[in-house]
Amino acid sequence: MPERTGCCVVGGGPAGLMLAVVLARGGVAVTVLEKHDDFLRDFRGDTVHASTLTLLDELGLGERFSAMPQRVVQHLPLPLQAGTSFVVDLGLLPGPHKHIVMVPQWEFLELLADAGRQEPSFTLRRGVEVTGLLREHGRVVGVRYLDADGSDGELRAALTVACDGRTSAVRGASGLRVREFGVPMDIWWFRVPRRGADLQGLDVRVDDAALLVMIDRGGYFQVGYQIRKGSDARLRAEGIEAFRRRIAALAPELADRLGAVRGWDDVKLLAVRLDRMPRWFDPGLLCIGDAAHAMSPVGGVGINLAIQDAVAAARYLAAPVGRGEVRLGDLARVQVRRWAPTFVTQSLQRLAHRLVFQPVLSGPLGQGDGGPHRPSRLTRLLRRFPRLQAIPAYIVAIGALPEHAPSFARRSSSE
Ligand SMILES: Cc1cc2nc3c(=O)[nH]c(=O)nc-3n(C[C@H](O)[C@H](O)[C@H](O)COP(=O)(O)OP(=O)(O)OC[C@H]3O[C@@H](n4cnc5c(N)ncnc54)[C@H](O)[C@@H]3O)c2cc1C
Repeated sequence: MPERTGCCVVGGGPAGLMLAVVLARGGVAVTVLEKHDDFLRDFRGDTVHASTLTLLDELGLGERFSAMPQRVVQHLPLPLQAGTSFVVDLGLLPGPHKHIVMVPQWEFLELLADAGRQEPSFTLRRGVEVTGLLREHGRVVGVRYLDADGSDGELRAALTVACDGRTSAVRGASGLRVREFGVPMDIWWFRVPRRGADLQGLDVRVDDAALLVMIDRGGYFQVGYQIRKGSDARLRAEGIEAFRRRIAALAPELADRLGAVRGWDDVKLLAVRLDRMPRWFDPGLLCIGDAAHAMSPVGGVGINLAIQDAVAAARYLAAPVGRGEVRLGDLARVQVRRWAPTFVTQSLQRLAHRLVFQPVLSGPLGQGDGGPHRPSRLTRLLRRFPRLQAIPAYIVAIGALPEHAPSFARRSSSE
């Protein structure tokens, strides 16, 4: 007998697990296939946004989440212009959560996975890599996968949802088109020990020629350093001492511990991409999150967008999947709902690439003799009318179109 489920979710990242939890609470049989054995991968962002915090409250998970070790970010440094960052006050946000929380993403994903396991119709299979799609009469009817022990199998489903991120194998196998947008940068990703008196939460450092993000993960900083796209091999050839000098120029307080980065093996290259599918669905198949629209790390908004996609998809699709009859119109409703916030957010990221990241990467801006930078018009406006800071705060911490849990998925925290 072939294996069967109602909804096959490919990928146990933020989009996949949130989708599976909400669908399972709607009584839908859902199986998540995640290619890794655990969620322990340090390339994932750590941000949990204000709108996701509200969603966790609605799902009855807020109390458990707030009991997890975390860092609360109330003032968000945003590089709004080359040369300097501007600190936005998240206290201006509407709603109960006027902050972003930093939690290692694997802990957030474990919380969602635990919530899923409370539902009898939820299954999470780790160490299972999806390798292709099953099709019948022009419709996707499930996936082909490779198990942890190397054996292959098939899982049939009324609906398959690609939540397998920016290098989505499902999207590749679907033949659906993707529109790529140019991105000027890649990221070096590495760890540096953190000491008790160091900054907490998050910081962004930017000067005329470089940009660096420091994420406080308790005992260490996860550091992201922006390099020009395609320059990794050339910069590595300059040697690890040159690397340490670059980092120390932006974060002098780290200079005496950069020895912890012992060599290039400790510095991972994260290739940044930004793309979007013109159409997110085919008969029997839907793509959401980074699989439908890979996000740049700018603004740290990709996780939020992925989660919002998942909630909207679960709201529209729980009933059709439950009936075992998912029409193209049902899938189109998800894209119609989520296309505008995706377009707006990606357009702002592309603008930031052009106005901030590209100039930084083009090297010293020649703004004089090292004196203070002249604030851009936008920075001056935000300083003069501080309440306007609510706009970037809203876009980053809440998102262009926040979604709320459907009534069938809501629980009180005691349940
Ligand atoms: C350097 C960098 C830093 C970033 N920092 C932030 C940040 O701080 N905040 C933020 O909001 N966003 C950040 N982003 C963007 C964010 O990481 C993504 O937008 C977000 O993770 C998308 O979530 P997702 O669930 O769609 O996909 P992913 O998080 O990529 O999850 C995909 C999952 O699918 C699994 N998978 C992949 N292929 C298969 C397969 N064939 N079979 C089964 N499973 C598979 C993967 O193992 C993974 O678990 C960053 C991006 C980059 C590049």
